[in-house]
Amino acid sequence: MDLSAAPFSWQQQQWRQMLGQFRADRLAHATLVWGESGLGKTEFVSSFSALMLCQQRAAERACGSCKSCLLVKNNSHPDLQLLAPEAGSKEIKIDQVRAVTGFVNRTSHAGGAKIAIIDQAHRLNNNSANALLKTLEEPTNHTYLFLITDLPGRLKPTIRSRCQRLQFTAPTSEICREWLLERLQADVVDSVVPAASNRPLLALELAASGAVASRQEFIAALTDLSRARVPVQTPVNLAKKIGESAAIEYLLWISSILIKTILTAPAQSAAEDSSLDLCAVFSAAVISSRDLAMALLRYQQELATARKQLMSAANPNPQLIMESLLWRWSELCRQSLDCDGMALSNGIE
Ligand SMILES: [Zn+2]
Repeated sequence: MDLSAAPFSWQQQQWRQMLGQFRADRLAHATLVWGESGLGKTEFVSSFSALMLCQQRAAERACGSCKSCLLVKNNSHPDLQLLAPEAGSKEIKIDQVRAVTGFVNRTSHAGGAKIAIIDQAHRLNNNSANALLKTLEEPTNHTYLFLITDLPGRLKPTIRSRCQRLQFTAPTSEICREWLLERLQADVVDSVVPAASNRPLLALELAASGAVASRQEFIAALTDLSRARVPVQTPVNLAKKIGESAAIEYLLWISSILIKTILTAPAQSAAEDSSLDLCAVFSAAVISSRDLAMALLRYQQELATARKQLMSAANPNPQLIMESLLWRWSELCRQSLDCDGMALSNGIE
């Protein structure tokens, strides 16, 4: 376990809250740690558990060098148990939960707290959830359970109701950018922050996965679609490659830039490089700036609805949603822009 990663800059409030409760000996027996993925929930719980077990607990962080901290780093602390689906399995099995039950009922090796972390708690199957429920119903002294999940709605209500809740939300784009700028180049940060909806660890993952080039490809195809030079299917295929959710985030981001550019004098706008072409396309509007901005705002509402549809459990069809969104985009451009005139004035073939 890496003890130095968390708390991240966007987790300070949660850290203070938990630390206050721990110091006052009021920490709940079980805590449900929830929020979207990519926010560092597991790192937070790991660092906090290390602090709880640390033998030189003077500061607000684990010391990182005492015997206990070294054992935690090596994943071999006898009073810390980590539970997650086994490799290749989608579920947390009942045998795994039974091991935790045994652990909870043992006495602590170091004479202090005993901690069990259940990562991806929504993957508890019915039997393992019932087994865990018994442990939650009969708390033992100085034993703490942390259940971590991106999908709290999938947990049994009886489990949820026995846990204190600790929520994590995405930070502002400024905080997200600031953290990423210490790790990535500025142009990469510009690309991944909107695609990750300000979730810093997800953004880092996207940067590592080469999502930046794909995003440029998608926006280039969107620009061509706006000029009626490619069929809707071209950006639809690219959206499939980068993931439809990411494509919707790009569309939201680019339409925000366009609205800003349209409503301020184009010369003053500080549009980012990759969107410059598209801003030029939109400068050839045949309707008023106000009407164009309104059309884009309405389009953003459609994007927000589509995003909800994609996240719903009702088995959405991402490709169909994307086709419809991009068809609407090409209609918006056809009705608002003078593509022929723009091609002439820009000297394009
Ligand atoms: Zn320590």
